[in-house]
Amino acid sequence: MQREGRNLVVAIDGPAGAGKSTVARQVSRDLGYIYIDTGAMYRALTLKALRQGISLSDEEALTRLAQETEIRLTYKDHTQVIIMDGEDVSVEIRSPEVSRNVSLVARVPGVRTEMVKLQRKLAERGGVVMDGRDIGSYVLPEAECKVFLTASPRERAIRRARDLEASGYEVDIDQLEQEIITRDQIDSTREMAPLLQAPDAILVDTSDMSFNEVVEKIKEYILQKK
Ligand code: C5P
Repeated sequence: MQREGRNLVVAIDGPAGAGKSTVARQVSRDLGYIYIDTGAMYRALTLKALRQGISLSDEEALTRLAQETEIRLTYKDHTQVIIMDGEDVSVEIRSPEVSRNVSLVARVPGVRTEMVKLQRKLAERGGVVMDGRDIGSYVLPEAECKVFLTASPRERAIRRARDLEASGYEVDIDQLEQEIITRDQIDSTREMAPLLQAPDAILVDTSDMSFNEVVEKIKEYILQKK
């Protein structure tokens, strides 16, 4: 753990399946920082909307849902868990059904306003690594370290397939690749805070890099900024 120097704010953005969460988790652990998974917040809300049968094109209902839902990130046995209205939904939010629908919920401005409020509060004290789509460009434009992590859609589909298979889901790589492309498309073209590389972010294409190489490259960059 290297905690000397200032406690910085690190923003890691990029498209679906680029490896942001695994990389961000490792970097935060090595630096003694807190990891904040913003995608999990949008996923939790999507799960609740699906359970309640709310139409994902009903922006008003989704905004109301975001305002009345309590989302918390906490730790259990050193692993981050996401609590929605008191229930641990960490596993359920990773289901293919939630993945397929989450960008439709995340594109609603009223939903984003609520989630961004929470994210900014969590980053207030610094010493955090936050991953998402709009962290460097919109949520925390003042972040000292900004990384845009990407990889080819095929490579991202292969990695997602590995994770899903490990969780017991059956997968079709071509379909997964298509879903990833569709999700990127919705995330990049929405009106409010789209998926975007901030002008001051470093670009890291992980297609041909090992996990350790990516982690080391980002840590080096952060330590330079300290
Ligand atoms: O990172 P993850 O794949 O779990 O994110 C799920 C979805 O949540 C993304 O596809 C995107 O629609 C939404 N999201 C977002 N802004 C963030 C993080 C996630 O819109 N900061």
